[in-house]
Order: sequence, then structure tokens, then C-alpha cells
Amino acid sequence: MTRVIGELPGIIYPPGGIATEFPYTANSDDVMYMELALEEAAISLEQGDMPVGAVLVNSDGDVWSAHATEKNTNRISGHAERNVIDKYNIDTGILALTGLQMYVTFEPCVGCAHAIDQGELGALFIALERSKLAEAPAEKFGGSQLIRHRNINMRQVLTDSPRTLMVVTGLEQEASIELFQKKYNRDHGIVSVPLLRRSRRGHQNATD
Ligand SMILES: [Zn+2]
Repeated sequence: MTRVIGELPGIIYPPGGIATEFPYTANSDDVMYMELALEEAAISLEQGDMPVGAVLVNSDGDVWSAHATEKNTNRISGHAERNVIDKYNIDTGILALTGLQMYVTFEPCVGCAHAIDQGELGALFIALERSKLAEAPAEKFGGSQLIRHRNINMRQVLTDSPRTLMVVTGLEQEASIELFQKKYNRDHGIVSVPLLRRSRRGHQNATD
């Protein structure tokens, strides 16, 4: 049974108009889908990519999920959002994302926002906004070293659009921050990895 979880900031981007803010009532299904996206994000972290995962859900509750593969597959377009859109398009043969909901662990880049807009997605749920990470304290993420501030972002794309999209932010935000913290620690040689992971890495080195 779907349970109400709490209110999160929601924004409706109307066609070419002024965005309207409203409180979105999140439910346990929203959390479940975002948790799946976070599981995907953890895979991309393991594979050396930015920890970003994305999930698409249609009105029947069918689910598609993917993670960032940019570095792992050497593809500039290998962002989680575009990977999951690719999966959906190929699997269903349907081009448009009309009526679908996307759950993504990090705010989409301008390129992915454009794909989301072009696809006519219905609703977008974001765990962690780019500005939240860029403004993180230096002792946590080295200031904006991990993610730089951008003057051009998703909001301009959506404000300029002839389509309507609902965006909800902050769903499972702390879990997404935790993954970025792991990414930052790894990139900077800050050791806080569990024993299991250490031994697995040791095993790989021994057999490589
Ligand atoms: Zn992107």
C-alpha cells in the first residue's frame, strides 16, 4: 500500500511561462523508485563514473533503470538519464516519454534536460540538486571541486520549453550526497572503504 512520506518542493514549468512552486506530497512509491535509482548510482560509482542513476516508470508501473556509464563505456552521452531513455525507447519502440515519471539521483545536465524536455516527460524527481553539492562545505567536498557551479542549467531549458513538466527535488537527498562523498573520498585517496570492498579489490589485483 502506498503511504504518504511528506512534502517536498515541487515546481511546475508551464509552456514558455513562469514556473509555479507548490508542495508535492511524496509517497512510499516515490521513495522506492528513487532507492532503485540510488542502487544504479552505486553501480556507476563502483565502475569509476559519477554516482548517478535514473529510473523511468510508466502509468502501468513498468520500470526501466540505468546508471551513468560515461567513463566505463567511453561515451560522452553515457549519462544515466539518457541511458534509461535509450532503454525505454529500445524496449518499447515508443519515442515519446509522455506520461512517464523519471527518478534521478542528481540534477540533470543541460543536455539531459533537453532530452527530457524533447521527450515530453510528465514528471521529474531529483534527489540532489547541483547547487546543493556545489555549495557543500569545503571540508566535505573540497568546495566546488567535485561539481562546479553553472550559470546555464536545467531550469533555463525547462523555462524555455513549449511543454509542461513537474519537477520535485530533495527526494532521498542525503543518500545521494553520501554517494558523492564516497566518490570524492575515492578520488582524493581518503580511505573510508569497508573491509569487504578492500579485500575484493585485493583479490582483483591478485588475479589480474
Ligand atoms: Zn546529463
